[in-house]
Amino acid sequence: MPAPLPLAHLNGTVIPVAEAQVSAFDRGFLFADGAYEALPVYGGRAFRLPEHLTRLARSLRELRIADPHDPATWRAHIEALIAANGGGTMTAYVQVTRGAELARDHPFPASAAPTVFACCFEWSGPPEALVRDGAAVVTQPDVRWGRCDIKSIGLTANVLARQAAVESGASEAILVRDGHALEGSSSSLLIVETGTVVTPPDGPHILAGTTRNLLRELASQLELPWLTEPISVARLRAADEIWIASTTREVLAVTRLDGAPVGDGRPGAVWKRIHEAFREHVAAFRAGATSGASAALQFPVVLPLKIIGQAGPGLRERVLRLVAEHAHVEEESVRERSSGGARYLAITVSVRIDSRADLEALYAALRASDDVVWAL
Ligand code: PMP
Repeated sequence: MPAPLPLAHLNGTVIPVAEAQVSAFDRGFLFADGAYEALPVYGGRAFRLPEHLTRLARSLRELRIADPHDPATWRAHIEALIAANGGGTMTAYVQVTRGAELARDHPFPASAAPTVFACCFEWSGPPEALVRDGAAVVTQPDVRWGRCDIKSIGLTANVLARQAAVESGASEAILVRDGHALEGSSSSLLIVETGTVVTPPDGPHILAGTTRNLLRELASQLELPWLTEPISVARLRAADEIWIASTTREVLAVTRLDGAPVGDGRPGAVWKRIHEAFREHVAAFRAGATSGASAALQFPVVLPLKIIGQAGPGLRERVLRLVAEHAHVEEESVRERSSGGARYLAITVSVRIDSRADLEALYAALRASDDVVWAL
């Protein structure tokens, strides 16, 4: 089970994960009325962030939930949360619900503001044994709703399918509707037939996978033929190779389907090529290359910073001096407020940061400081 990293984001504020609490009247809790994204972070950099933000915006539009942020603000919040959690390699999770009102009624609430929650999880790539030996999967009937293209937090059918897979010793369920294999419970499906990669077309019964889109780019670089076509169960069983792809699995070979070996029961030759290309692509990204639409936070950037410290003499001066070592402090923006029964002092300030290195150094210095309890 991946553990969450110490800090979460709730409605614009970074707080310790254990303190991230929402109302029991939140429509996410009552109705699963919301959307989410999960994305990989390699070496402190959010991977394919614009693609994930575009999909989130689309999910929210389809659910008719007002998108609480423009892409630049989303990016700033997500990158700040990653930095506050120490950067490195992890996954980031973002969820938006239609919000809370003191009622339980199906129509949209008149005034509730969306609830925004984000956190990060420990992750360092898919388990090596699954990469080396491939994954076992089982087929399961697809009993999900008719809008699987929306990344809704209503995942009960996905959860049940995945649990059935785990209980039969497999790591993923391939969902079958009307005789066609569509995707995994939380992954995209691809097969290889005599050297051609085949994957089902996007539509209301499939989530458009960001990892699968990257595989398409890599396949084109490798000059691998790529076909978008429905995959019947018979076609799935006859495939030379089967792959599953997602943010946390990257791309895995499937070596057992419903208990029977796929091909010779070992990861196939085409998978080896695409997997190597995937790993090289990620290594280049870690080293500073871009991937997909340009995701980088543009520097210099002005960010709001909130720092909570143990209240005491000289705290404000010490904290601002520390911040000023890595960022330009906009003096007139400094505000302070006591919290926790005056045990803590919350200092908010706008800062201009000139480079990613300064941003990372700033958070490292704040984390290392004895004065600071937490900082966003
Ligand atoms: N399909 C479903 C149903 C999923 O939950 C996921 C994982 N979010 C995917 C496909 C793969 O999407 P991505 O590559 O963007 O993680």
